[in-house]
Amino acid sequence: PSLPLPLQVCFIGRSNVGKSSLIRALFSLAPEVEVRVSKTPGHTKKMNFFKVGKYFTLVDMPGYGYRAPQDFVEMVEAYLQERHNLKRTFLLVDGVVGLQKTDHIAVEMLEEFGIPYVMVLTKIDRASRGLLLKNVLEIQEFVKENTQGCFPQLFLVSSVEFSGVHLLRCFVAHITGNLPTVEAS
Ligand code: GDP
Repeated sequence: PSLPLPLQVCFIGRSNVGKSSLIRALFSLAPEVEVRVSKTPGHTKKMNFFKVGKYFTLVDMPGYGYRAPQDFVEMVEAYLQERHNLKRTFLLVDGVVGLQKTDHIAVEMLEEFGIPYVMVLTKIDRASRGLLLKNVLEIQEFVKENTQGCFPQLFLVSSVEFSGVHLLRCFVAHITGNLPTVEAS
């Protein structure tokens, strides 16, 4: 029998959405886990593979945006179509500006490929309560009306204040099978 493929989760989002900060924040909460980074060779905008101990691999996609639509199509789409052993995709959305046109393109792609994903609202420390509430309500409404594959619960995070990061970490642990329930003995 062949070895099981290592489980993967993948993080995607517009350039500057706060993706690298969030990945750093997630790992800095678990200093006991060895994280090894490797890159895809031969690309200008690289994918980073964070191998998290023996548990799973976090795949960091190149940020998409006005200047990098080609990277997005070529790398993200190619990766997502291959699937690997992808457990869940995390789509990062800027909590200050909410869903943008390019985010909608990402959503359409995930929906089209039938890939289960979760939306994560970043930089929540930078948005006022009112603005944050407005963006959350808008996104929840959008998710309810327009998506099939999106997890109904939004995750709100700040990599500066570390809010929501523990919860997100638990969710990642859960979906990668690293949060087993305790059997009563
Ligand atoms: P990436 O391009 O998606 O990897 O984004 P970065 O992680 O490099 O972040 C882009 C900018 O947003 C940087 O100036 C970060 O310091 C800032 N940033 C990222 N996360 C947060 C956050 O949670 N709160 C605040 N206030 N700024 C953030």
